Amino acid sequence: MLLQLTEPGMTSLPHAEDVHKAIGIDLGTTNSVVAYSENGQPIVIKTRNGVSLIPSVVSYNEGITVGVDALDQLKQDPKSAISSVKRFMATPSKPVYQDKTPVEISADILTFLKAQAEQSLGQSVTHAVITVPAYFDDTARQATKDAAKIAGLTVLRLINEPTAAALAYGLDQGIEGIYAIYDFGGGTFDISLLKLTHGVFQVLATGGDTNLGGDDIDEKIVNHWFGPSENWRQHQLIARQAKEALSNHETWSDGKLHLDLQTLENLSLSLIEKTTQICSQVLLDANLGPDEIKGVVMVGGSTRMPLVRAHVAEFFKTDPLTDMNPDEIVALGAALQADGLTRGSNTLLLDVIPLSLGIETMGGIVEKIIPRNTPIPITLAQEFTTYQEGQTALKIHVLQGERELVDHCRSLGEFILSGIPSMVAGAARVEIMFAVDADGLLTVSAQEKMTGISQKVEVKPSYGLTEDDLIRMLKDNSEQGAADMQQRLLVEARVEAEGLIMSLESALKVDSHLLKLEEIAVLRQELEVLKETVKTNDRDQIELASKKLSENSQNFAAMRLNSSIYQQLVGKTI
Ligand code: ADP
Ligand code: MG
Repeated sequence: MLLQLTEPGMTSLPHAEDVHKAIGIDLGTTNSVVAYSENGQPIVIKTRNGVSLIPSVVSYNEGITVGVDALDQLKQDPKSAISSVKRFMATPSKPVYQDKTPVEISADILTFLKAQAEQSLGQSVTHAVITVPAYFDDTARQATKDAAKIAGLTVLRLINEPTAAALAYGLDQGIEGIYAIYDFGGGTFDISLLKLTHGVFQVLATGGDTNLGGDDIDEKIVNHWFGPSENWRQHQLIARQAKEALSNHETWSDGKLHLDLQTLENLSLSLIEKTTQICSQVLLDANLGPDEIKGVVMVGGSTRMPLVRAHVAEFFKTDPLTDMNPDEIVALGAALQADGLTRGSNTLLLDVIPLSLGIETMGGIVEKIIPRNTPIPITLAQEFTTYQEGQTALKIHVLQGERELVDHCRSLGEFILSGIPSMVAGAARVEIMFAVDADGLLTVSAQEKMTGISQKVEVKPSYGLTEDDLIRMLKDNSEQGAADMQQRLLVEARVEAEGLIMSLESALKVDSHLLKLEEIAVLRQELEVLKETVKTNDRDQIELASKKLSENSQNFAAMRLNSSIYQQLVGKTI
């Protein structure tokens, strides 16, 4: 196979003078945070009311309201504002609130964040590094960039949230080893295992639950106070207040309602245990023991809970890293990266692609071109050829996923390379190149080497993959691996048999005069047998029948070759 590599880190940087001050943005599900760097120190931007966490809530009642004010409206009337829009970024153009799409709502949040930064810094802000979850696919990443563009921000780079957290801890500064990034936020739980070598961040495994977070603890508290009620969100904010206070106090009361730490811990224990169960599953996936984890970085507001810290410490048998603000750390890491990029520093920060990328080959099989977990940016090329004689076009179907068959992977798009000169099967040399940029976005190009004709597409999938889909696809892969391989071998046997049938039939059409009638009859009969066998799922029989036919047609092939040489020589003077 002809594989080619470019040098890592070959991405263009904006000119320093074009950039005033680049900020780092943690565009969170529950809260968003903005930070910037000053003399290499990341600093969080505080809003007018002196807080750094800006609720990711938008209301469209009188103009556009974002943040605390929108959250206040939400408290009054749950229908008056939209929250947690990040959950819908996998289907970015499907309206989720009034007629607003996730991209538009995210753009409104980003516009607000940009304005906050400009106000605080006293200068205009045009460039940003924005963080996304490690499991965000192409669609969600592109959607995040689109939202930034609408908000008037140029995205220097999208980086993964766990990577940003690791950067904030300075784990890129010569520290090597495997780290766990434990992110327990408002609505989601994410665990990532990062391997750090020479400043290269490789996501070894990620896992999580997109419906497990601080919100669930709030719900337990509301149920404890009022009994199970459908509209627990009405009381969520008071429950949240109690919960947050109990991270520093033994008891809480507002005069009417009471909660003590012990009760809170009883209520939340099962939810916290769920997170460590997921951790052990992810370790299993990565074939690692808890003792192989060098450190655990705590991310997300819910890791402020003492019980969470105690559980994580016990599970990983090490005290988690908690000396940074867990809800600011992602933005701080993004700010460091933004600063590094604008100053053109050559920190080699590489993320990886979460799912393998490849193309469809004969028989509906996926040939992987860039395997999962390859550091980006990356460009890889592979040569392919034509299947049929006289074939003048190639369909290039781009797929994402770990499985062997097209039907089990996700289609990212397809295009046709046409204008290939008519040649015998297998003579054309088509180079297909996959380039994934530093943001994880893919461009596919194809070029026929002899003529130089080429086609290029930027793959922007029209529909998204949910986080659950991603988890399912990864899980399916490990469960189905063996079955997939069998299926792949069967399909390959079929493709080979069909190729044989096709070429023999066309040879018989042209050159049957070279054979005796009974020889033709034998070949035709074996052809029929193979055609029938190919329809079955019996790989052994298909291979057997192919072998027999190819042996019995060898003589015919030799005669054809002689005859063609003879034809070519006739009339020529030697
Ligand atoms: P996200 O990443 O989902 O945007 P955050 O990291 O901001 O969310 O986490 C928000 C969650 O953290 C909320 O459920 C909030 O109640 C919880 N949280 C914040 N501070 C504390 C605290 N001191 N104790 C317990 N939970 C907290
Ligand atoms: Mg977060």
